[in-house]
Amino acid sequence: SKPVVAIVGRPNVGKSTLFNKLVGERISIVDDTPGVTRDRIYGDVDWNGRAALLIDTGGIEPFSDDVILSQMREQAQLAIDTADVIIMVTDVRSGLVATDEEVAHMLIRSNKPLVLCVNKCDSIGDPPPEFYEFYKLPIEPIAVSSVHGHGTGDLLDAVFREL
Ligand code: GDP
Ligand code: MG
Repeated sequence: SKPVVAIVGRPNVGKSTLFNKLVGERISIVDDTPGVTRDRIYGDVDWNGRAALLIDTGGIEPFSDDVILSQMREQAQLAIDTADVIIMVTDVRSGLVATDEEVAHMLIRSNKPLVLCVNKCDSIGDPPPEFYEFYKLPIEPIAVSSVHGHGTGDLLDAVFREL
């Protein structure tokens, strides 16, 4: 069976936009099962003749920072348990926030291969100054615009390098 790549990250960083960009139209299953699997979406991604199953783990609308953090932990654990590689998505507009740091360290401790996507780097050329905050984490940040598609090739190169 295909290797599994899970997308995790805070609400509104652009997980579903990235998922749709990487999968194109070929979304295979939408899982409406209540509980932790709610809103998980599966799709095929192909890159240079190789294939993987992509999972968008985004969940329920959060109401508070506490809820976001507990959901993020749950989402990250799900990804650790099921994925071969994890893409952690962050938002360059907010820069590196405490929740990102906590979840990144949880993922790093799990020893799962991890790729760091700094999304919403929309302009061509140098990324915005906030991009460089992500170098504080011990994994290399990749500048991506899920809306425009910039950087998605570098991101997929990094993902498939880990598979
Ligand atoms: P999710 O909650 O992490 O799944 O985030 P969504 O994919 O629903 O995106 C949240 C918002 O960010 C939406 O308004 C998207 O259009 C926007 N967004 C996502 N990716 C980008 C991007 O690369 N650039 C910009 N400018 N906006 C983006
Ligand atoms: Mg989403």
